[in-house]
Amino acid sequence: MADHMTPQQRHRCMSRIGSKDTQPELLVRRWLWRQGFRYRLHDKRLPGTPDIVMHQFRTVIFVNGCFWHGHDCEHFRLPTTNTEFWRKKIDNNRRRDRLNRGMLKYAGWHVLTVWECQLAKATRQATLQQLSTQLSTIILDHFQPRPATKPSPYTIGDTTSLAAEP
Ligand SMILES: [Zn+2]
Repeated sequence: MADHMTPQQRHRCMSRIGSKDTQPELLVRRWLWRQGFRYRLHDKRLPGTPDIVMHQFRTVIFVNGCFWHGHDCEHFRLPTTNTEFWRKKIDNNRRRDRLNRGMLKYAGWHVLTVWECQLAKATRQATLQQLSTQLSTIILDHFQPRPATKPSPYTIGDTTSLAAEP
């Protein structure tokens, strides 16, 4: 697959990668905020520092860039230069993501992932709507009576403080 990016474009693309407050993440945050959801951001105490964390409902949302996280979609193309370097790097990122998701799920967290490509104009509304539906399901489920469970290693005591700004 051809690499269409100039070095400058790639630099801009990659310097955004892994950084906080990326555009796709902001889209999701603004949507959730408008829908009345409240959350914390980039909680370093949880595996993988999830972008959006709803402690009350034990739910995290990762908003993933397709390149950096190696999404299996048409947005993901390995650069034609230093291809091996990038392949290894992205493979590592995928492995790390899998591990982090596994640890979170093991600890009883709901783990949702929104991909950058799903937020393209054509599918954005449907993606966000679906996210709200998933969250509503989780929240409803959360209020079902259930037997007490042991606290998990990632339980965080502070669930009552103020949510972050969008
Ligand atoms: Zn993608």
